[in-house]
Amino acid sequence: MPKAPRGTFDILPQEHIYWKYVEGKATSLCQLYGYQPLSTPIFEDAQLFIKTVAGGTDIVDKEMYVFADKSGQELALRAEGTAPVCRAYIEHGLFNLPQPVKLYYIGPAFRYERPQAGRYRQHHQFGFEALGEADPALDAEVIEMARRFFDSLGLSRLSIHLNSIGCKLCRPGYLEVLRQHYSGYIDHLCPDCKARLVRNPLRLLDCKKTSCQEIAKTAPKITDYLCPECQLHFQSVQKYLGAMNIPFHLNPRLVRGLDYYTRTVFEVEPREKGGQSTLGGGGRYDDLIESLGGKPTPAVGFAAGLERIILNLKKQKTDIPALPEPDAFIAYMGEEAKIEALKIASELRKAGIAVIMATGDKSLRGQLRQANSLGIAYALILGKQELSKRSIMLRDMSSREQKIIPLAEIAKILKP
Ligand code: AMP
Repeated sequence: MPKAPRGTFDILPQEHIYWKYVEGKATSLCQLYGYQPLSTPIFEDAQLFIKTVAGGTDIVDKEMYVFADKSGQELALRAEGTAPVCRAYIEHGLFNLPQPVKLYYIGPAFRYERPQAGRYRQHHQFGFEALGEADPALDAEVIEMARRFFDSLGLSRLSIHLNSIGCKLCRPGYLEVLRQHYSGYIDHLCPDCKARLVRNPLRLLDCKKTSCQEIAKTAPKITDYLCPECQLHFQSVQKYLGAMNIPFHLNPRLVRGLDYYTRTVFEVEPREKGGQSTLGGGGRYDDLIESLGGKPTPAVGFAAGLERIILNLKKQKTDIPALPEPDAFIAYMGEEAKIEALKIASELRKAGIAVIMATGDKSLRGQLRQANSLGIAYALILGKQELSKRSIMLRDMSSREQKIIPLAEIAKILKP
C-alpha cells in the first residue's frame, strides 16, 4: 500500500485551521506593506539553484531533488523561493517598473534532508522580496515586517539575530583570515567542515557539531573585516531598527545556509531553542540577479517555514479562530421528502447559506447523529407532514428544541 513519501505529510482538514490562519496573516501583512503575490513553478532549470544557492552549500550538494525530464533537460524541484523570484524579475522585465519591486509567495520547497520534527523533505515557505533598492532602510523595513508577521500570529518569545557578511570586495579578505584560524584545528573538524575549509569557509561558522562550534567561538568576527561601505550600511540598518523600536541581537557568527547573501543577514528564533528552531531568515542579496544574467540589482528579502510556525503556535497554545462551519444540516424521511430537500439545499446555497445535505438511507436518528458529529448548529428536518404544509422542522442541535417554520422563511431565520 503506497504511503506518503518519507519526510512529507498530508494536511488533514483539522490541521487546515492553522494553515488558513497563517496564510491569512501573511497575505494581510503583504497588503499592509505593499507587496504583491507572485507564483513560480514547482520545478525550475536546476542551474537556477546551482548558480545562486551555489555548490558548497548543503542545499545544492546534498539536498536538491534533481531529475532529467523526457527531453533530457535537468530540472530541480523548487529548493527555495528567492532564486525563482529573481528569475521571474529578469524574465518579465520587472526591472522596468518603478523600483523597488515588492513581491511575495507562499508555496512548497523540497530538500532531501533527514526528516525530524520541524524538518521535512517537502516544507512550505512564506517569503517576501524587495528588488531594486540598496537603501539600508529597506533592510530595516523587511526585518520589521518579519517581526510584525510573528506578532500578528500571536507568537511571542522570539529573538531577531542580525549580522552583516560583507560584500564581494571585503569578504575574500575575511575568508582568508577565517581559513587561517581553522587551519590550526584541521584534525578536530568534522569531515563536512574539512571540505568546507576548501570550498566554502564561511559555512564553517554554521556547523551544528559541538566540536566545530567550539572552534567557531574563537573565530575572527566578520564584522571586524567589513569595508567602510558595508560598515556604514550595517550601522544604518541598526540605526533604523532602533528608530522603529525593533530589538535585535548582534550575532557575528550568523551566516545562513545559502550562498547568495551579501551584507545584512538575519534570523528569527524562538527563545527556547531546539534542534530545528529557526522560524525564518533573510537578508540582502545584491549580486544574485546579476549572477543570473540580469543587470546589477540590489535586493533584500525574508522567508519563514509554515510547518515550524505551526509547531510553535501549538507549543505556545495560541488561540486560533475556528473556520466557518456549515449553517445547517438537512435531514429527510422518504424519497418524496428527499427530492424536496435537494431543491431546498440548492436554493439555500444560492442564498449564500452553507448546508450539508444527508445522503444515503440512514434513519432520521442516524442523520441527526451525523449532524451532531459535524458540529452543525441547526438541522432542518423534512417529513411527509412538513411537505404537505410547505414547511420544515428547525431543530436546534444543542438545546434539541424544535419548531415548524414555513419553507419560505428558512433563509431569513438562518441568515437574518
Ligand atoms: P531557508 O530557505 O533555508 O532560509 O529556510 C527558510 C525557513 O524555511 C527556515 O527558517 C525554516 O523555518 C524553513 N525550513 C527550511 N528548511 C526546512 C525543512 N527541511 N523543513 C521544514 N522547514 C524548513
